[in-house]
Amino acid sequence: MSTHAAVGACVGLALTMNQPPEYALIGGTLAMIGGIISDIDVGETGKKTTPIIIGGLSLGLLAILFSVGVGVFPGIIELWKTTSGLLRTMVGSALFFVTCLWGMRRPHRSFLHSLLGMAILGGTVYLALPVAAGYFLAGMVSHVILDLLNYRPVQLFYPLEKGVSLRLCYSKSRVSNAILVGSVVGIVALLLAR
Ligand SMILES: [Zn+2]
Repeated sequence: MSTHAAVGACVGLALTMNQPPEYALIGGTLAMIGGIISDIDVGETGKKTTPIIIGGLSLGLLAILFSVGVGVFPGIIELWKTTSGLLRTMVGSALFFVTCLWGMRRPHRSFLHSLLGMAILGGTVYLALPVAAGYFLAGMVSHVILDLLNYRPVQLFYPLEKGVSLRLCYSKSRVSNAILVGSVVGIVALLLAR
């Protein structure tokens, strides 16, 4: 999961490289959440604590983003007020939550790892905060691409059952660790280059 989180954050920061810090914070945070949310569906195939960690981390990241908006970069709150607002955020968040709950009851690497799942979750994020949706989706796409590299098939075209896999490596392999290290270096480089 740390690899997915790091790659997501790296993608979000890269996409917002030339933009104001408000966008980098929204981009980094939302792409990181997009990078980890899919594995909330691990169910029997993973550790019981994984969905709790993913949910807690996602909420924690949003709380940090909100606090930074209130305390350091008011532009974040301003952006939220002008492009979204309380009602949109409440409806979007509720739909996001329900979609995740439904996805958790589907098999691992099915709905929450599919184009359909990305479209629906992306739509709920767009409702909550339009500017965040693209970064969130970029994070989800990075997750699915990483999962496609290894042997366990991904039901990319859910509800079609046929799984897709590039069969290039195992998930707990050195490749995964190398990607983790690479993206952490990438995050530091992107932050220093700003
Ligand atoms: Zn996954």
